Amino acid sequence: LGVLGVRLERGPGSPGPVALVLQDVTEARRVEAVRRDFVANVGHELKTPVGALSLLAEAIEDAADDPTTVRRFASRMTHEADRLARLVRELIDLSRLQGGEPLPELVPVEVDTVIAEAVDRTKLAATAKQIAIVSGGERGLVVKGVESQLATAVTNLLANAVAYSPEHTRIAVGARARAGFAEITVTDSGIGIPREDRSRVFERFYRVDQSRASRTGGTGLGLAIVKHVATNHGGSVSVWSEEGLGSTFTLRVPLTDRTTTPTPAGDAPA
Ligand code: ADP
Repeated sequence: LGVLGVRLERGPGSPGPVALVLQDVTEARRVEAVRRDFVANVGHELKTPVGALSLLAEAIEDAADDPTTVRRFASRMTHEADRLARLVRELIDLSRLQGGEPLPELVPVEVDTVIAEAVDRTKLAATAKQIAIVSGGERGLVVKGVESQLATAVTNLLANAVAYSPEHTRIAVGARARAGFAEITVTDSGIGIPREDRSRVFERFYRVDQSRASRTGGTGLGLAIVKHVATNHGGSVSVWSEEGLGSTFTLRVPLTDRTTTPTPAGDAPA
């Protein structure tokens, strides 16, 4: 029991016994504070690209006679609009994963398919930086899950690996079975994450370096989404990293055999 709300209550009009009513308001206050922070953060995150778009639109009006400048500003507008679209998409994903709607059924999902889908979605960004994505590890693993959510999670890990790696590097993605779980790992040889930030990167809107994140078009929501997907599946996500050497993210999801009958999410048998 934390902070208490204390009230004295007396029966109507009577000088009779006084009741001392204790209320635990700590949890309610904490939830309210988290909600307020979240709304403030969303507002702030939306303000940046919207402000940039409106400045760029003004600049285009002023430079209407100069096609080169107009093209340059228009391309920056596209970049900002893409960032805004990604932010909105990720906010919707996050609110769904946080229980905004009922969880879909957990069914057998092939890990190979999840990885192939994620590689497919990040190939373009990787190619642009001449980064090779190499798949390896155990084939044929089957987990109990929601394929679209798992594909989103692995895509987010791969997209980060690409975003935070220099050109001409390699990213390894693969899976192995361990103690009843499929461990899906994504390893890059990028900039790495400082020790003091490692435990916080899974928080919503947490970014190691704001300026770097805005250059890479980051929203600070990617890893929060991965964490929710892991939790919804009865799994976990963790990171190993060394600054300047790279990072490995590991997503663990319970294994199952191909013939398992579907189980409603959150109601998985032990
Ligand atoms: P963002 O959209 O900013 O990438 P994420 O939630 O995906 O947000 O990641 C949070 C922060 O963690 C990032 O801003 C970045 O600083 C750090 N990070 C995530 N993945 C990596 C990685 N593979 N290498 C280095 N830093 C990373």
